[in-house]
Amino acid sequence: MRIAVLALQGAFIEHEKMLSKLGIASFEIRQKKDLLHSFDGLIIPGGESSVQGKLLKELELFEPIRKLITEKVPIFGTCAGLLLLSKQIENDGRVYLATMDITAVRNAYGRQLGSFYTAESFGTMGKIPMTFIRAPYIKDVSDSVVILATVNSKIVAARQGNQLVTAFHPELNDDLTVHRYFIKICGGEQLNRIID
Ligand code: GLN
Repeated sequence: MRIAVLALQGAFIEHEKMLSKLGIASFEIRQKKDLLHSFDGLIIPGGESSVQGKLLKELELFEPIRKLITEKVPIFGTCAGLLLLSKQIENDGRVYLATMDITAVRNAYGRQLGSFYTAESFGTMGKIPMTFIRAPYIKDVSDSVVILATVNSKIVAARQGNQLVTAFHPELNDDLTVHRYFIKICGGEQLNRIID
């Protein structure tokens, strides 16, 4: 099992640390040739969606990554990563990879509440810590999207097949629930014994 982490901008090192705590090997995608390595899943970190979107295009990573997602390679987008995967961003004319049937709202909590911390349920996996930094939320999902978490009635985590997104940053807290869940998507249920 090896997980690729998109390392163009933002909080990618924190994801690598979470994976290493789970005993999972990772490597960074910084340029096109990095995609030649084999891997079981890809993480798109938080940061700035517009910057990451621009760099993905400039570095010619955009189309190959989009293709991998449509070929069902497991993908986990946090915060800006969620925006990059959204088919629609309500308050931003741009879309990026646009592979997931969700409508997001960017910088959705206003200036006062730009960053905050809470704890809420994640799927059936109990309450987990959630750190939000100038975060989006998900306003709308299609029928094939499973809602995994809400905060104040706003959707903050969801899954559609191979695609998992969180509006919060699980890599900024010690709790490994979300990464463990992603690893299960990447490796199938046979990995359960190792990482439970
Ligand atoms: N506000 C950022 C954006 O629009 C996302 C913030 C984050 O990833 N923490 O891309």
